[in-house]
Amino acid sequence: MSELAARRRELVVANRILAHENVFDSYGHVSARHPVDPRQFLLAASVSPGQVGEADILLYGEDGEAVGGTTRAQYSERFIHAAIYAQRPDVQAVVHAHTPAVLPFTVAPVPLRPVLHVAAIIGEHIPLWDMHAEFGDTDLLVTAPAHAASLANALGNGRVVLMRGHGFTAAAGSLELAVRVAIYLGINAQAQAAAMALGEVRYLSPGEVAAADARMGSPRATGRVWDNWAQRCGLAKPLPVQA
Ligand code: MN
Repeated sequence: MSELAARRRELVVANRILAHENVFDSYGHVSARHPVDPRQFLLAASVSPGQVGEADILLYGEDGEAVGGTTRAQYSERFIHAAIYAQRPDVQAVVHAHTPAVLPFTVAPVPLRPVLHVAAIIGEHIPLWDMHAEFGDTDLLVTAPAHAASLANALGNGRVVLMRGHGFTAAAGSLELAVRVAIYLGINAQAQAAAMALGEVRYLSPGEVAAADARMGSPRATGRVWDNWAQRCGLAKPLPVQA
């Protein structure tokens, strides 16, 4: 299998995992940088992530437009991906989602911060991007390159940026890590909100975030996690044939 075919296959699995783990609903999208040409990236046509197949994966250029054009309907927020790949050479994958547990932290005056060691990969300081500050009254969709560049600026060198009244975007050095960040962002948000209802919350210290991220924040730090999620959504590798 070519590198490109392998990356396309992995991106289908990522779509299905994020849908199955309820990071995505009918909306949301995940992309991966082209394994050979870093100016391009792979992203599905406008299909709900739980139904994405290999034939739906399109190639996109730095401008956020399909390479060679397409007759398929496209995600209107595909510029998010283009802007982050342009700004962050280290990023290999981008997830944009509207995960319910995360949404309150996009509109309340409480920062989303790691409370769990498995969630240290989300980063200690998660910025909140308020589209209104720069663009005034909009429909809150990131449908223009200027919107996306502003969002990528807010992300900075981090892995997650929250988007006011909308959702979040996550970026990482591998597809596996971007998926893991997106999933544990939601789990952390749920745990943090539940803990806040009980009393004063003890967050991870900056040193704990750094130490846990050093262990868990590398690509495939925990390969069994991806394999388990792939199996849960029905895309496990077939068992090896016994001799
Ligand atoms: Mn969106």
